[in-house]
Amino acid sequence: MLREDTVFGPIFSRRLGRSLGINLLPRNGKLCNFDCIYCECGWNKDGTGDRVIPTAADVRSALEDKLQECMLAGTAIDSITFSGDGEPTLNPEFPRIIRDTVSLRDAFYPSAKVSVLTNATRLSRDAVTEALRLVDNPILKLDAPTDALAARINQPVGEYSVEEVVKGMLRFEGNFILQTMFLRGAGFDSSSPEVLLPWMDIVRKVHPREVMVYTIDRPTPASGLQKFSEAQMRSLVQPLIDEGFTIQIKG
Ligand code: SF4
Repeated sequence: MLREDTVFGPIFSRRLGRSLGINLLPRNGKLCNFDCIYCECGWNKDGTGDRVIPTAADVRSALEDKLQECMLAGTAIDSITFSGDGEPTLNPEFPRIIRDTVSLRDAFYPSAKVSVLTNATRLSRDAVTEALRLVDNPILKLDAPTDALAARINQPVGEYSVEEVVKGMLRFEGNFILQTMFLRGAGFDSSSPEVLLPWMDIVRKVHPREVMVYTIDRPTPASGLQKFSEAQMRSLVQPLIDEGFTIQIKG
């Protein structure tokens, strides 16, 4: 499932309500430095047809047009969400785009939240982290507590270190949302103690203001993956709920 427009929607999001989407990646392709086995955009190798990345000027103009159109139509918007076909922080103008988006949000829909879904691989870049700290909802992914499991679930392209991601998350001083996919596949299971317990330790260490736990919702490029029910996920994260963490669970 690829988004064909730089600005799309608003669509109803399970997590963010009426959400106007922004895709900072090519309009007819996928560009990511992960290749997650559950990615709703498919495998990276199948999304290489288009390599044209929108510029900051393109995004600003498309967003301004869309916000004007929505305002005139009386359309409500809860969130302006960066969630395109790949990893938004790979757009080289990401910091400038975030600043532009915050200022357009202030002008047109001041009560809407700006949200960014990111795989958190580029937090070591100061400009990326500073931009993410400007938005209301930096939603940072961490599916696996170990590099070995991340290699199976997320299949990073290039170097990836959970330890480095955790260091990057600590720079948010808790003001972020941690997003984790719970799933089962051949030889791994998010609910097994060797995965769940170290993941919980990371949650305690980075102490996000909210945790979003979710599971497979759409067809996946890898076969044989299994989802969890909401009730199962709730019971798995109950110890963190009991400790006072805010956890949103989406089955
Ligand atoms: S990080 Fe997101 S876009 Fe990239 S492969 Fe994973 S699910 Fe797909």
